[in-house]
Amino acid sequence: MEIKYQPKNGWETINSEEKQNVFAFCEKYADFLNKAKTEREAVRETVRLARENGFVELEETSRLKKGDRVYAVNKEKGVLLAVIGSDTEAGMNIIAAHVDCPRLDLKQNPLYEDTDLALFKTHYYGGIKKYQWTALPLAIHGVVIKSNGEKIDISIGENENEPVFCITDLLPHLADEQMKKNMREAITGEGLNILAGSMPGKEEKEKFKSEILRLLNEKYGIVEEDFLSAELEAVPAYKVRDLGFDKSMIAAYGQDDRVCSYTALCGILEINSPEKTAVCVLADKEEIGSVGNTGMQSRFFEDTIARILALEKNNYSDLSIRKAFSNSLCLSADVGAAADPNFKDVFEAQNAPKLNYGILLTKYTGSRGKSGSNDASAETVGKIRRLFNDNGIVWQMGELGKVDAGGGGTVAQFVANLNIETIDCGVPLLSMHSPFEVAGKLDIYMAYKAYKSFLQNLF
Ligand code: MN
Ligand code: MN
Repeated sequence: MEIKYQPKNGWETINSEEKQNVFAFCEKYADFLNKAKTEREAVRETVRLARENGFVELEETSRLKKGDRVYAVNKEKGVLLAVIGSDTEAGMNIIAAHVDCPRLDLKQNPLYEDTDLALFKTHYYGGIKKYQWTALPLAIHGVVIKSNGEKIDISIGENENEPVFCITDLLPHLADEQMKKNMREAITGEGLNILAGSMPGKEEKEKFKSEILRLLNEKYGIVEEDFLSAELEAVPAYKVRDLGFDKSMIAAYGQDDRVCSYTALCGILEINSPEKTAVCVLADKEEIGSVGNTGMQSRFFEDTIARILALEKNNYSDLSIRKAFSNSLCLSADVGAAADPNFKDVFEAQNAPKLNYGILLTKYTGSRGKSGSNDASAETVGKIRRLFNDNGIVWQMGELGKVDAGGGGTVAQFVANLNIETIDCGVPLLSMHSPFEVAGKLDIYMAYKAYKSFLQNLF
């Protein structure tokens, strides 16, 4: 070990074979992102890949033993995968990530007309900079539950031959007043209305709105009241792109946190009969506080582990799950903020994550003096550090911006509340929470390698 700690750019440390692996892996990742634009789609795609790789539904299992591969879905919006080790009560290696992303949800009564145009009202979900969502192509994904209970799946705007939608912005010529406002107010929440049509129908009243309703009825068999029982999400309509002349980066919507979800998923799909039970949990609602019955604070996680323990041993008791949790270690797999040369003043260079310096360990997050953080113990950091060093993983340690520049959190604190040793460990991003987030391919690949190695080897 060198006396001086000198982090290196990963591209300067890996060999040419590893470089090929990086690029090959990221093609599969791009494919996943293109198919998974919402939490429901991410869960659907995860289940498809899990089944392809020999995982069976926990519900269909009557007994569990070492090497068994199972999954359980939480209301189409969350999923837990597990590969059973020799004794789950002796502790698990857990990776927790989230599959929801910032977006614009259609309001429950969304459709209206104004100025001979038809529009949808929205309510944004998660932490967005509202101005970033105007003047870009949007697709609409989601489900509509009809009055008879039938569920209609909707996805429109992704294929070249489908129309897209957008939120209009004000031309600069008339924006004198708007440009004087601060960025929080220049575009308001109630101003995020999506343009959905402009042709009048035959009805006397509300011709433009009625025409959209007629088309929706024709295409999906739905009526206006069906919107009340719908979850429709507007997301950027474009596909994943390689970024840079060297194609060394991925630019896409939704990398927070599908970059960690997908790499963790690939990790658990590829491991074989680990000594410790390996778990990958992909939760919903992280972007609004991990709340609700599909968020990480829901009992779904505990319930599913309880079911696994009960199928593994004859004498399940409450103590079993408590032992299992207190013997476990969890990587809270979420993205971090990479140092951005355009915004250097919010980063503290010596502790800022950098693109291409590998997977990012973050000891604590939070704000105003680590408030709301899970502060991983030095012992846990030490264990993970040794694992990564022993397995050729390019990794870095970093924190979220300068002290008091802002802050944030992840699912880490909620997992840790179960008395599970937890540490944040994910991929650094540029433009996080924007409709076009940027990740380094080397970091994405190292996340996959790190998660796989954690699930297979740590005991
Ligand atoms: Mn996240
Ligand atoms: Mn986020």
